[in-house]
Amino acid sequence: RAKSLGPNVYQFFTSTMNEQIHTRMSLEHDLRHAIEREELELYYQPIVDLETGFVAKAEALLRWEHPSRGKVPPYEFIPLAEETGLITKLGEWVLYTAARQMSQWQTQVSMPISISINVSTHQLKRGLSIATIADVLSYSQLASQLLTLEITESLLMEDTVANIQWFHKIKELGVKISIDDFGTGYSSLSYLKRFPLDFLKIDRSFIRDAINKQEDASLVKAIIAMAQGLKLKVIAEGVETQEQLSFLHQLHCEYVQGFYFFKPLSVTDFEKHVLEKHNVPLLKKRQSKS
Ligand code: C2E
Ligand code: MG
Ligand code: MG
Ligand code: MG
Repeated sequence: RAKSLGPNVYQFFTSTMNEQIHTRMSLEHDLRHAIEREELELYYQPIVDLETGFVAKAEALLRWEHPSRGKVPPYEFIPLAEETGLITKLGEWVLYTAARQMSQWQTQVSMPISISINVSTHQLKRGLSIATIADVLSYSQLASQLLTLEITESLLMEDTVANIQWFHKIKELGVKISIDDFGTGYSSLSYLKRFPLDFLKIDRSFIRDAINKQEDASLVKAIIAMAQGLKLKVIAEGVETQEQLSFLHQLHCEYVQGFYFFKPLSVTDFEKHVLEKHNVPLLKKRQSKS
């Protein structure tokens, strides 16, 4: 017990804890008002189709510009939003904003670009309804096949009837489902055949080490082979180097996302660096050497 170490130590612990609680409470208070104060912004990270060499998708990534703290990273405020229930409001704001943005952008491109939106497990558990997703589509006028929801494996561990039905209803709307951070969650793979899924996103940690570590290279190969067998398309996250790109290209990985091509871009930068150049492929067509 801190108290047995003397009164000063006790005080030290108490004030540090008070400070932490205070920081958390003020951050929570500020987050509650971040939407109406227009402090939230979506960035869009392009995802490249390795077959065609064109940007085919973009992932919406939330940014918070706090008036005094500056940029607060998602790993600091998303968990807070989840614990406090604010994720419902934030998540809806992200869905409506990203879908409308992507719908507007369709008029400026020759080939459609789809939008991937992160949906947290907490958000789904707190009852993100099919009606909300349908409303997002009608409000934004985005074609449903251009919307993908990114979810993590933890949700798929609960294969209750209600849970599986939710996914089937999402599919009936024409919306696609992607498993985010694949490989970092749970060990059971049986959910892959029970849920109607479209994409697997291989977690950045495997891609990072695939060039130097035999184990990671084997895992990436196995995930891609398995996905092909299950008719799921693969997106590799966190591709930063030419070596990683070539490795994935050889394995016929369908899509890549990462700093090698693009960082997450503001709306202005996305328009300048992606939309205005969308007719120029980023890669040569895959050579079919025999
Ligand atoms: P995520 O969904 O796995 O998103 C990918 C993260 O990897 C992003 O981090 C992105 O900036 C980063 N990334 C992409 N390519 C590279 C690369 O080549 N190298 C490196 N080092 N990093 C790369 P970010 O934007 O900080 O987001 C972190 C996480 O926060 C996301 O991980 C997601 O789980 C969560 N998040 C972000 N926006 C939202 C949102 O709107 N809703 C929810 N529920 N979660 C969100
Ligand atoms: Mg994601
Ligand atoms: Mg991810
Ligand atoms: Mg990740």
